[in-house]
Parts: sequence; C-alpha cells; structure tokens
Amino acid sequence: MDIRFLGGAREVGRSAILVNDALLLDFGMLTANPPQFPLETPDPEAVVVSHGHLDHVGTIPTLLSGDGRPPIHWTPPTAELARTLARDTLKLHGGSYNCPFTEPDLKRVTQVSETHDYREPFEAAGHEITFYNAGHIPGSAHVLVDDGETRLLYTGDFHIDAASSEANGHADPVVGQRLVAGTTARPDADIVLCESTYSDVDHEPRATVEQRFVESVETTLWDGGTVVVPAFAIGRTQELMLVCAAHDIPCYVDGMGTQVTEMLRQYPSYVRDGEAFRRAISHARFVTGRDGQRKRIVDQKAAIITTSGMLSGGPAMTYIPEIRRNPANKIAMTGYQVEGTPGRDLLETGSAEIDGRVMPVSAQVEQYDFSAHADRDGLFEFLESYRDSPVLINHGDRCEAFAEELRADGIDASAPELGDVVSV
Ligand SMILES: [Zn+2]
Repeated sequence: MDIRFLGGAREVGRSAILVNDALLLDFGMLTANPPQFPLETPDPEAVVVSHGHLDHVGTIPTLLSGDGRPPIHWTPPTAELARTLARDTLKLHGGSYNCPFTEPDLKRVTQVSETHDYREPFEAAGHEITFYNAGHIPGSAHVLVDDGETRLLYTGDFHIDAASSEANGHADPVVGQRLVAGTTARPDADIVLCESTYSDVDHEPRATVEQRFVESVETTLWDGGTVVVPAFAIGRTQELMLVCAAHDIPCYVDGMGTQVTEMLRQYPSYVRDGEAFRRAISHARFVTGRDGQRKRIVDQKAAIITTSGMLSGGPAMTYIPEIRRNPANKIAMTGYQVEGTPGRDLLETGSAEIDGRVMPVSAQVEQYDFSAHADRDGLFEFLESYRDSPVLINHGDRCEAFAEELRADGIDASAPELGDVVSV
C-alpha cells in the first residue's frame, strides 16, 4: 500500500491522503488568510471522507471541476455538513482565488454522493472500506481501508470518554461530550494513521470544565449581565446547547449553528442521546436576526451561543460591540483560539478588532476547553491497542515530537512530511 500525503502532514488543516494513487481520504482547507489547499488536486477513482469539518471536507467540490466524477463516500451527516460548508465558502469567497470551486461543482457533489452508516463495509476504488464512530462530531468516522493485503486505519479526528471513575462525585456524571459518545472501536489494522491535535495537552475532566462554565454563566445572569458564548457552528454550538439545557440556563442560538442544529435533528442516531438533543432544541431560542432582534436580546440576561468561535465573523460581530462596555457582562470562549484571531487577541490584550474596528472590552473574558479531540492520555490510550503496528502521526503542530515520544514508549511511530509517500 502506498500512502501519499497531500495535506495535513505536520500541520492542522487541508487534510488529504491518497492511497494507492486511487483512493482519496479527505480533501480539506486550511483556514488562514489566504486559505490554503492540498498540494495538488488529484484525479482519484473514489473519495472517502472522515467527517464534516472544513479542514477535512473544505475543498471537496474542486474534485468535480474537471471531467472526473469520483463517487464520494461518507456518513449522512458528513454529506450534509460538507454541502453546508461549501455553500458558506461560496458565499464568503465565491469567484475569488480563496474559493477553488464553483456553484456547478457543488451541485455535482450531490450527484456522486454515496452515504454509509457505521460498520457497514463498502467498496471504493477496489478497496474495502468500513466506518467506525470516532466520537468527534455527529457522523465522524474512523476509516478502515483494506486493499486486500494491508489494512490501514485512518483515525480522522476523534474523542475518547474518560473512565467513568473520573466523573464520580458529580450528581450528573459527564464523562465526555454530551453531543456524541467517545470512540470505543479498535478494529484490527496493519498500519495506523493517527491525528495528534492535542498531543501535549491534558484536558481538565469534562465534568469540571462544565461545572466551572455553568457556575460562571449563572453568576453573571444573577448579577443582571449577558453572556456571549462564541462557538463553532458544527459540534460546539450543539454541545453548549446541551449544557445549557441540562442546567436550565436560558439561551439563544445564532449563526450557522442554527442551520446545523436543524439538520442534525434529522439524525438522532448520530448523537449520544437523541432525547436529550431534542430537549436541548426546544429549550433554546433560535435567533433569526430580523427586525433588530439581536440588539433587543443583548439585555435579556441569557447566554447567547453564536458563531464565530474565534470572533472572526458571524453574528458575534453584532453582539460584542453591544455588550463590551459593561463589566457585568461576560464573553465565554469555548475552545482553542488560533494565534492572530480576534478571540486570541481579546484573551491576551483585552481588546480585539471586531468588524474592522479595534475595540477595548470591559466585559469579563474567560476561556473554557470544550474540546472534541482526544488529549495526550487519550491518544496514548487509543494507540495502546496498536502497539504491534507502525503508526503514522499527522494533523498536529508537533507531529515529529509526538512520534518521538511514542518511539520512546516502544511504538514504531513516524511523522511523514507534506508530499511524502509511505509504502507498507
Ligand atoms: Zn474535526
């Protein structure tokens, strides 16, 4: 088996891996200014996608801009998320170099789409493929690729639940994400390609993060303030909706997360607890933005869950200027903030460029780690099941260092570079 790295090697973003020159795994976009795309656009016989985040699906329609019409295999939620993201990219960047595909390319995606559930093997470009729940976002999959001689397990992005003992002592034991259960599948494989986003981070137990978040939000609401909760549209928005519903925190939901939530409602089997998700949807109030609604709700003593997660666009651009002057208000960031984003600047300097204007913020600013990725312990725990197989590390800022740490632990690990071909 030949495994060629067209993106996502020793970096996060634009994941793209070509297997045996025929089967493409993921085709993502690296969000930056300007955005970056995989090293080249191949002409694969078939495409298999791990999950519906921009860094894994963002460039997919480009594969249909020539004469090739490769089938694209994914789970039903991933298919929907990919189209939602592509429409958003067209809206933001259509017709410029920052968008490498067109509306007709996107229409063709629907024509070649083939959906599969977890653990239902199918054939793609002469390979047998099986999806397993990766526990990252709804529809996310580990991808097992069998070419008849070698079985490759591509983890995609994944999350692992903590051992339940960690959650003991909490009335409502939270062992992982409320939205999706962590991965438990460990299919046999001859070689593993593993993400490493948080290879040097030990996440605080989820129950503790959640408790701190809830207490902080409640305190602000009791004091008469409003809490803006910037959140990514896919996964994080729904996770925060579930947290608010579980603790009866009044909340509004705004931005692309509202469409994503509406879509996921149709796939209750892809969330941890379909009934809890349904309750969270009826608990939340969805913002349309019509008739000055946003300016009215900023003094409603509620949490406002809104895109964008790093304050680089979306309705957050309306809410932050409205609430920033009052120290009784709060901005609760819900994930990692990339260097150079307004969210990161706000945390580090107390001011940020919002919608083209640098603004000092007197409202309180806090950060919570509601991660959807395995942390260092989780990665070691997962790879423990693959001690006898070579392991390739990708999707991280320190892939080489992590591979070296795994080697010190007796695992045959390496971190391929962009453009490398690994033959096994
Ligand atoms: Zn992801």
